[in-house]
Amino acid sequence: MVIKVAVNGIGTIGKRVAHAIKLQDDMKLVAIADVAATSWLRTVLEPEGPLYKTDLYASNKEGLEAMRNAGMFVNGLLEDLLASKKVDVVVDCTPGGIGAKNKAMYEKYGVKAVYQGGEEANVAEVSFVAIANYEKALNANSVRVVSCNTTSLARTLYALDKNFGIEEVLAVLVRRATDPWDEKPGPINAVVPEVHIPSHQGPDLQTVLPHINITTMACKVPSTLAHTHFVSGQLKRKASLDEIKNALEKTGRIVLLKASHGYTATSRIIERYRDLCRPRYDMYEVAIWDESITVKDKKFYWIHAVHSEAIVIPENIDAIRAITGIEKDKFKSIEKTNKSLGIKC
Ligand code: NAD
Repeated sequence: MVIKVAVNGIGTIGKRVAHAIKLQDDMKLVAIADVAATSWLRTVLEPEGPLYKTDLYASNKEGLEAMRNAGMFVNGLLEDLLASKKVDVVVDCTPGGIGAKNKAMYEKYGVKAVYQGGEEANVAEVSFVAIANYEKALNANSVRVVSCNTTSLARTLYALDKNFGIEEVLAVLVRRATDPWDEKPGPINAVVPEVHIPSHQGPDLQTVLPHINITTMACKVPSTLAHTHFVSGQLKRKASLDEIKNALEKTGRIVLLKASHGYTATSRIIERYRDLCRPRYDMYEVAIWDESITVKDKKFYWIHAVHSEAIVIPENIDAIRAITGIEKDKFKSIEKTNKSLGIKC
C-alpha cells in the first residue's frame, strides 16, 4: 500500500516534509498547497528543484487568485482535491494557528491530518515524537508533531527516563531568533527572556511525556542557526557516565559531538552537516556536546544543539506511518525514515 499525501503550507517545514515524502517508497506526494507565490515555492518547483512537477493547489480562494495573478500554474483548490478522495493524509505546515482553522476541512472529507508544533496541543488527538509515543498515534485521525525544541527534549529525556527514571528536570533554552532565510524578525542586538516560568516548552514536553517533572526557562538571542539547550536533572536511580551516554546514543536521532574535535559552537556543528552534503545542511539529529555530559550521583547535566528547520522532518514521516497504521512497529518506521534521510544513528 502506498499512502497518498498532500502538504499544505510550503515554507521552512513544508518544503522539507514534501521533499522527504518523495524519498519514501510507501508514500506518494500527490499535491502541495500554499497561498502565496513565494520565492521558495517558485524555487522548489523549478526543473532542478526537489518538488518539480508536483501538482500545486491553492489553500483558499484568495491564494488561488494571488498565485495565478503571479503567473503560477495552480491546479485548483485544495478543498476540491480533498473532496475527490485522492488524498489519505494532509501534512499541515501552515503558520501556527492556521492548522486549527483548517481542521474542519480535513475532518469534513475524512482526511487524516498531521499538524505542527505551532498549533495548540488540542488541535490533534496525540502530540507526537516517534521514539516516545509512536504507539499512541497508531490509527489516530490526527497528530501534532511537536516543536523543534520539544522534540529535542522528548528524544533525550525519553532515553534517560526509560533507562533510569527521571525525578525532575530543569532545561534552559537559548533560542535562535528566527530561521536563517527570514530577514524580518529580530532581535539583532538583544537577549529577550521569556519572563513567564515555566516557558511553554516544559508543559509542551508533558503533552508527549506527561509524567516528566520538568521546568523550562527560555530566551531568544541574535543567532539563526540553532537553538542551544542547557539540561540538568535528577535520575531515580544512579547511572554512570558511560551508561548515560550509551542510553542517549542507542535511543537514536541523537549524536554526541566533541568540542575537542572542533565542534566548539553551533556554527561548527551546522558546518558539519554542510560538509556531509546533507540537503539544505539539515541536521535531523539532536547534537549533544559529549564533554558537557556530566553525572554527579543521581544528578545529570548536558548541553545540546537543535537545528530548528530540520529536526521535526523525520518525525513527520513517522507520524504519517503511525496514523495510517501502515507500519505498526515504531523501530521499523524510524529505521526506514532514517535510511531515506541519511540519518546514521
Ligand atoms: P513558514 O512561515 O516558513 O512557512 C509557512 C508557509 O505557509 C509559507 O509558504 C506561507 O506562504 C504558507 N501559508 C501562509 N498562510 C497559509 C494558509 N492559510 N494556507 C496555506 N499555506 C499558508 O512557517 P514554518 O516555519 O514552516 O512553520 C510551519 C509550522 O511548523 C508552524 O506550526 C511552526 O510553529 C512549525 N515549526 C517551525 C519550525 C521552524 O524552525 N521554522 C520548527 C518546528 C516547527
